[in-house]
Amino acid sequence: MGRVTTIGRAVREGIAPFVDLVYPPRCPACGEAIGEQGGLCAECWSGLAIPGDPSCAACQRPFGEVGPKEGSFCAPCLENAPIHDGIAAGTLYTEVSRKLVLALKHGRRIALAKLLARLMTARIPPTEGERLIVPVPLHRWRLWHRGFNQAGLLARELEKAGCGTLLVDAMRRTKRTPSLGGMGAKARARALAGAIEVSRPERIAGRNVLLVDDVLTSGATSTACVRALKRAGARTVTISCFARVLDEALDHAR
Ligand SMILES: [Zn+2]
Ligand SMILES: [Zn+2]
Repeated sequence: MGRVTTIGRAVREGIAPFVDLVYPPRCPACGEAIGEQGGLCAECWSGLAIPGDPSCAACQRPFGEVGPKEGSFCAPCLENAPIHDGIAAGTLYTEVSRKLVLALKHGRRIALAKLLARLMTARIPPTEGERLIVPVPLHRWRLWHRGFNQAGLLARELEKAGCGTLLVDAMRRTKRTPSLGGMGAKARARALAGAIEVSRPERIAGRNVLLVDDVLTSGATSTACVRALKRAGARTVTISCFARVLDEALDHAR
């Protein structure tokens, strides 16, 4: 095993210069040539929006510089107290983060998943004790169609970064759900009712869970996941996403 890893690394390092020669490093968001693999061009870096403080005490929605003071709740959380224990977003949804999520679906996945996970890790609050990392599940049919779950790719990188222990099959979709874009809140909740379940609740009971997704939009899917995890006895569920949509109107553009 150790030997295989060593050989693997030697091969990887040995061929890296050739890879750079054949595929010169390019920014995964815009295609611009860049200095080395695994980064973004300067312009795209500056097009990323990192959520800042002050922010909502329940969901970490940034208030902006002239917003209420730290410790306040945002309007949606005041209206409906969230059942999750916080949202750690690597970035806010912008044109650049949209392109990166698309590139993750279609491009050179491993290097990109590492980059996106690095941005996510920076925002994940520390926790006491062990944490489980659980990706939002894709339905079998979609998984088969696409070949991989991008939330799973990100979750694996978060485990490598030391954020917790990956439990890739903690949840499953029990039925196909239609695309939720353009649906009202009630229709979404109806479409998702009973669609997501925890496969073995005893693995979740009493644990702190980091629920991972690439994009967090209306939160209907993540809410269904959080509900299932809490029902299984999870102590806390913190949501970790790469790009958080704050303007719900953008849902329709997805
Ligand atoms: Zn770029
Ligand atoms: Zn909030």
